[in-house]
Amino acid sequence: MKETPQRPVIVPPAGLCENCIHSVKIRSDRGSIFYRCQRAMTDSSYEKYPRLPVLACRGYEETAEA
Ligand code: SF4
Repeated sequence: MKETPQRPVIVPPAGLCENCIHSVKIRSDRGSIFYRCQRAMTDSSYEKYPRLPVLACRGYEETAEA
């Protein structure tokens, strides 16, 4: 059986969502990375899956460093 060549997975920079307490990082079966904004659950002015990279956001709150 002939193997299908693997295409490289390109992960775009997430910008602010990368380290925002309101983001949830999701990896699809194909290896793509999405960031779901939890603020969108209660505020329709936020996109559930914001277009990346998010460069400015009024709801951004930085995660505390461990
Ligand atoms: S509040 Fe803004 S920065 Fe934070 S997860 Fe939502 S869209 Fe991203």
